[in-house]
Amino acid sequence: MSNNPLLPTNIDALAAYSSAKSEKLTGTTWLNANESPYVKNIDITIDDLNRYPDPQPASVIDHYASYAQLTPEQVLMTRGADEGIELLVRTYCQPMQDSVTLFLPTYGMYKVTADTHNVAINGLNQALLLEGTVDEIITAVGDSKLVFICNPNNPTGSLTPLDKIKAIAAALESKALVIVDEAYIEFCPEQSASKLINEFANVVVLRTLSKAFALAGLRTGFTLAQESVLAPIRKVIAPYPVSTVVASIAASALSPNAITSMRRQVSILNALKTKLKQWLAASPAVLQVLSGEGNFVTLKLADKNSFNIALEQGLVMRAFTLHGENNWLRISIGNEQELEQVKIWLDCLNQSTTQKGQEVS
Ligand SMILES: *Cc1c(COP(=O)(O)O)cnc(C)c1O
Repeated sequence: MSNNPLLPTNIDALAAYSSAKSEKLTGTTWLNANESPYVKNIDITIDDLNRYPDPQPASVIDHYASYAQLTPEQVLMTRGADEGIELLVRTYCQPMQDSVTLFLPTYGMYKVTADTHNVAINGLNQALLLEGTVDEIITAVGDSKLVFICNPNNPTGSLTPLDKIKAIAAALESKALVIVDEAYIEFCPEQSASKLINEFANVVVLRTLSKAFALAGLRTGFTLAQESVLAPIRKVIAPYPVSTVVASIAASALSPNAITSMRRQVSILNALKTKLKQWLAASPAVLQVLSGEGNFVTLKLADKNSFNIALEQGLVMRAFTLHGENNWLRISIGNEQELEQVKIWLDCLNQSTTQKGQEVS
């Protein structure tokens, strides 16, 4: 705790959020933040920066609505999906009174946002979401206001079937918002809950341009829901959340040609993921591989020090603790050359594991 008497206790108690990018690591191959390896070359001329931007740029909204097969009224553009998370908590939760349900382990920003706004967390297990019955899940959700379902889940890659999400939404209708975070849905588009939006007033879908669309630096996301859910959020959001420059780039990233090229990149990355999973499954340095649906693979190392060996080779991946074990690793799917670096690291580990085996026998 600090000695600052001006700070509310919940803010004083916050731990600094450690994102993949806030850790000061050095390296040459970056596979730690689930970014796309594809670089867009952007060439823009903008001649009206003396004017405030359109609060919700029509060209971007219209393009995204058509991509998501929704109406423009069902689309809200935000500064990344992260701002969508924050807006939902700020708009729908009463501090010190309401709670949000999370299925852990999951994406870290839900907790950071709830803590920041003094909203309690009902922390449930990801296993309950995947293996529990809908009745068990609804009982455990209790009177939570927001239920976050990260689908596919970061960092485990697990997928909650659409019919389960539908049943949960039906059971919680007019009780809670079911927020499906689809940051990685482009890697398994047929699993999207966006088709539930017209049917259920309590289904919200979060999307981003940061992953498959290869624009993490742009900070653009979308909150999709029925108009009645978005209307109060539109009163809470900052008046000009999206800069003219961002809107212009986002609009071009959502053109039909750009979407076709994104889909082509996704199929290449999915194929590379299959290859990486095979290497990992064959490696004695890897104890377990979670078969994920995003642009990442999560695995358990036999020896946590293997991570440091990777760092020495300039290969940066995301180490984390799962089920109380600190030897887990998430590898983002990069391009062919980047995954070659992973292969070199694995070969090096495999060699030393084999040698160790020989010493013992
Ligand atoms: C990366 C990620 C986000 C963040 O998206 P931004 O649009 O970059 O804010 C949200 N949710 C999940 C699950 C993510 O992995």
